Amino acid sequence: MPDEETDYDTIRECLADNPDVNAEIVSEMTGIDSRVVLRMLDSGLISNIGSAEMVKCGQCGSPAISHSKKLCQACLEKLNQKMILARKGIQQTQRKKIQLGEFSSVRSTLDDKRK
Ligand SMILES: [Zn+2]
Repeated sequence: MPDEETDYDTIRECLADNPDVNAEIVSEMTGIDSRVVLRMLDSGLISNIGSAEMVKCGQCGSPAISHSKKLCQACLEKLNQKMILARKGIQQTQRKKIQLGEFSSVRSTLDDKRK
């Protein structure tokens, strides 16, 4: 199959520029069928992908989705959820502070009047 050799070069070039990606992303970036990418991975032709897929999730030890994230999809979603909750918490604290601020300014106004 002569096409496959071109594909192989394309994939290797893609991996040289983006060592962090997994087989699916390589397939998307190169336009080469992910089955072809996976077959090359299986046969050991492309090792970069292999090492990218060997990165484990820092939370649960499942295969991570990328080198830089070091998290699996499930933990990434959990983390996003936590961040959303944390953001909501911050907003609520800020709202409380504003309410408290209003309250104390009312009190100081009353105190001023009493003087
Ligand atoms: Zn995980």
